[in-house]
Amino acid sequence: MTDRTHDHSALLQLRNVSRHFGSFRALDEVSLTVRAGARHAIIGPNGAGKSTLFGLISGTLPVTAGSILLDGKDVTRLPVYRRVGLGVAATFQHSSLFLRESVLENVLLALLRRPGVGLGGLRRVAARPQAIAQAHALLDQVGLPTRHELAAAELSHGERRQLEVAVALATDPRLLLLDEPAAGMSPAETARLTALLAALPGEVTVLLVEHDLDMVFELADTVTVMHLGRHLMTGAPDEVRASAAVQSAYLGTTEVPS
Ligand code: ADP
Ligand code: MG
Repeated sequence: MTDRTHDHSALLQLRNVSRHFGSFRALDEVSLTVRAGARHAIIGPNGAGKSTLFGLISGTLPVTAGSILLDGKDVTRLPVYRRVGLGVAATFQHSSLFLRESVLENVLLALLRRPGVGLGGLRRVAARPQAIAQAHALLDQVGLPTRHELAAAELSHGERRQLEVAVALATDPRLLLLDEPAAGMSPAETARLTALLAALPGEVTVLLVEHDLDMVFELADTVTVMHLGRHLMTGAPDEVRASAAVQSAYLGTTEVPS
C-alpha cells in the first residue's frame, strides 16, 4: 500500500507514533522524517524514549498508535523479519552476538538473513566460498581483518561493537539503526567506530542514538532531540546546538551540548 502523501526523499516516516506502557507514555505522538542517505542522530536524556523508538522502527515492539512508513509503504504491523527483508537493520543497546561462535561465523549467520537458522545452516553457508569472501570483506570494512577465528566472547568491547556493525551490514541494509554504539568504548575505540560509520556508502541511511555528543556532531547531518517521550526538535547540528530548548532539556545532566 503506497501513500500518496509520501515525501519521496523520505526513507522513513513516523507519523504520530505513540507507545504506552500501561498508563505511562514512553512515546507520545512522535513524528519524524529520515531522509534517504541521511546521517541522522537522535539525542536526549535517559528515559527520553530513544530505545523505545528504535524498537518500534525495527519491529521488536508494537506501536500503541500511529504509523511507520518505509519508502511510503506502511510497515507498522510488519514483523521484524519482514522489515529486515525490506532493509531495516538494527544493532541493539544490548549486544545480540552469538558469543560462543567465531567472529566469522557471526557474520556468516547474518549473511543467511534468516533469524533462527541453526548451525546446520551455518555449515552449509560456510561451505560456499562466496559467502566466506563476503564475510571477510565485511570484517575488513569494520576494521576487524585479523580476528576471524576468535569466539565473539574473546573480543574487546569495542571490537564487539565493530562486529555488530558487520553483522548488521551483512543483511544489506538501507536503514541502519545504531543504539548507543559508543557506549562503554574507549576514546580510541570511539574514534575508530566514528571513522567506520563515516565511511559507510550513501546507500546506507544511518539513524543513530548516541550520548557521545562529540561523535554525534562529527557524524550527523541532522539531529533530533527527544525529551520525556516527545519530539523536541529536529534540525541541522548547529541549529540544535544553539537551541535554548535543547539546553534546558539537558540541564541537570552532564550532557550539555557544547
Ligand atoms: P532511552 O533509550 O531514551 O533512555 P527508553 O526508550 O529506554 O529511553 O525508555 C523510555 C521510558 O519508557 C523510560 O521511562 C523507561 O523506563 C520506559 N520503558 C521502556 N521500556 C519499558 C517497558 N517494557 N515497560 C515499562 N516501561 C518501559
Ligand atoms: Mg536507550
